[in-house]
Amino acid sequence: MNISSITSDISGCVFDIREFSLFDGPGVRTSVFLKGCPLRCVWCHNPEGLNALPEILFSISKCIHCGSCKDVCPLRGNDKCLVCGKCASACPSQARRVCGRFITPMELLNEVLKSQPVFEISNGGVTFTGGEPLMQIDFVVETAKLLHDKGVSVAVETSGYSSAETYQKLLDVVDFIFQDVKHTDDAMHKRYTGVSNKPILANLELLKTSGKTFVVRASLIPTVNDSQENLLSLAEKLLDADNLQGVELLPYHSSSGGKYSLLNLTPPMTFQEKTFGDEVLEPFRKHGLPVRLL
Ligand code: SF4
Ligand code: SF4
Repeated sequence: MNISSITSDISGCVFDIREFSLFDGPGVRTSVFLKGCPLRCVWCHNPEGLNALPEILFSISKCIHCGSCKDVCPLRGNDKCLVCGKCASACPSQARRVCGRFITPMELLNEVLKSQPVFEISNGGVTFTGGEPLMQIDFVVETAKLLHDKGVSVAVETSGYSSAETYQKLLDVVDFIFQDVKHTDDAMHKRYTGVSNKPILANLELLKTSGKTFVVRASLIPTVNDSQENLLSLAEKLLDADNLQGVELLPYHSSSGGKYSLLNLTPPMTFQEKTFGDEVLEPFRKHGLPVRLL
């Protein structure tokens, strides 16, 4: 679903805006987290980004059982939540909060421009992440144009799961891309993310010929995608990419599943944490590709 199409004007659904990020692209950046993702990676650490629409998060450990939320709820908590936010406003202990809000490109521009002096000093900018920014491509494109008009650079972190046409729209406006690759084997990709990797690998080929600077990011999930075979296969797909700045490998942390309880969900799967060493870098180094373990 393209969220922009369900509102009268273009708007995006954003669930977080974080300033002063040092890990989401060049310089100091403001990261904008967009709601909605077509993948269901079993290790996802941002489950509040999966649903494309606003929703209520509930922290049972903060709840003091005062009943105020039920008193104000137009549905008395008995039907499908309207996400009106009345319970969150009434909650005295911040146990409930609305996750996600609609915002226009101009409103987002005005929010992020607060950090423009920092962007200028550090050669930073704005990074769209999520969730999956490609699900809100019209919003990303419009906001990126406004940011460029103000001299602000735009980066995107994406799964790359979209049609070629949508991905090309992104390439046309973005300055820098973090391209995630979950698995190079299609059957394994389907098993652990719920979707085929074919559109992603096809879009990776578009990216390689686009001239846009990019970094490949790969989460290392023990027993899923940390084999030498998979890492070597990924390295081989990057050999002819002159615009590749490097590969970043992100080890799995089981603590990242903590947010699921806020959505009354349990993490789909958990894995044994593992300490990775040079063995995961070697498949890239042997081909002369810049790589680092984060
Ligand atoms: S968001 Fe509104 S409808 Fe949903 S539970 Fe809270 S008060 Fe009720
Ligand atoms: S208003 Fe907040 S503290 Fe009171 S019962 Fe509802 S969630 Fe719990």
